[in-house]
Amino acid sequence: MRIEKLARGVWKFTDWAGLCSNVYLIDIDAPTMIDLGSKEFSRTLVRGLKEIGYSPADIKKVIYTHLHFDHIGDPIVFKNAEFFASQTEINDLKENKIGAFFALFGTNPNALLKGVELKPIKSNSRFTIIETPGHTRGSICIWAKEKRILFTGDTLFHNNILGRTDLPNSAPREYEDSLKRLARFNYRILCPGH
Ligand SMILES: [Zn+2]
Repeated sequence: MRIEKLARGVWKFTDWAGLCSNVYLIDIDAPTMIDLGSKEFSRTLVRGLKEIGYSPADIKKVIYTHLHFDHIGDPIVFKNAEFFASQTEINDLKENKIGAFFALFGTNPNALLKGVELKPIKSNSRFTIIETPGHTRGSICIWAKEKRILFTGDTLFHNNILGRTDLPNSAPREYEDSLKRLARFNYRILCPGH
């Protein structure tokens, strides 16, 4: 695992083994995780958090850019956190668990988010939530305006590499508009999901 400090109060955790999203911690009002990687990564992630002086119990919010299995992690580790995703993603999870998770390799979607209450995410004074359907119908990007950091999940990667839109819950026809919406944010740091 690699831990990078991207800015004051902002860290990136990268796993090199297996299918796992990047994980970010941004502590500007309350300690907030953006995506949690894969379930298999969670013990390594906890160790990483301790290395920078946080315990999982310190985390107050977890924001999911979308609910694919390689971003969900092991939410029960974060006992004091509230969990957020877009309303569309929450609805899709209820109606179409396999599509919403894009579960591979025998990952059991029901077990991953068991007992977790997902709340719909809204913008606040620190974070602007940008709805960016494409990779999934309910994908969001998160703009941390003071720091000019853009968290893009699987919507947009470095060097303008685009996310896949051929998955069960993708919305390929809306993707171009989503990218136009993102282009308005003049970021200093781009934080993609992979
Ligand atoms: Zn994804």
